[in-house]
Amino acid sequence: MSDEVDAFYEKLDKDAKSAGYHLNPDIDFTKALIKGLLTNEKRYGYQACPCRLATGKKSDDLDIICPCDYRDSDLDEYGTCYCGLYVSKDVVDGKKQFGSIPERRPPKEKRGKMEQKKTGNVFTNLSKPVWRCKVCGYLCARDEPPEVCPICKVTKDRFERFM
Ligand code: SF4
Repeated sequence: MSDEVDAFYEKLDKDAKSAGYHLNPDIDFTKALIKGLLTNEKRYGYQACPCRLATGKKSDDLDIICPCDYRDSDLDEYGTCYCGLYVSKDVVDGKKQFGSIPERRPPKEKRGKMEQKKTGNVFTNLSKPVWRCKVCGYLCARDEPPEVCPICKVTKDRFERFM
C-alpha cells in the first residue's frame, strides 16, 4: 500500500496547495492519515475521515467525507482540522502551535435538524458570513475568507464580506 499512499500524498498535496490549503508538514503523520483514508475507501467505498467512526452508510457520513464539513471552521479557529491532516499557514510557518481540538461534529440527532435547515432558503439560514472573491466572484460561507481563492488563486485580502 505504500506506493498508493505516496501517490495519493503527492496528489493531495498538489490539490491542497492549489486551493490555498496546507497538509501537515509532518510527512509520516500525514501519510498515516492518508493510509486511513485509503483504508476507509476500500472498506466503505468513500474516503471517510480517518479519525472518526463512520457508519458505512454514505448518506449518514456525507459530512465526514474528507475534506469534511468542519475542516474550514477548525482551521480558522484552531489552525488544524480535527485529525491534523490539514493545518493553517500560521502552523506551517511556526507562528502557531496546535494541540488536540474538540469535536465540532454535532451528535446525530442534531445533524438531522441541520440537514432539514439546509433544505430551506440557503441565504436566510446560513450560520456563517458569506465571503466573495472580488476578482472572480467565488462565494463561500465560513468564519474567515480562505487564504487563497480556490478558483482564481488571489490571496485572502481580495475577498469582501458579501453577507
Ligand atoms: S478532520 Fe481532517 S482528515 Fe478528517 S475528514 Fe476532516 S479534513 Fe479530512
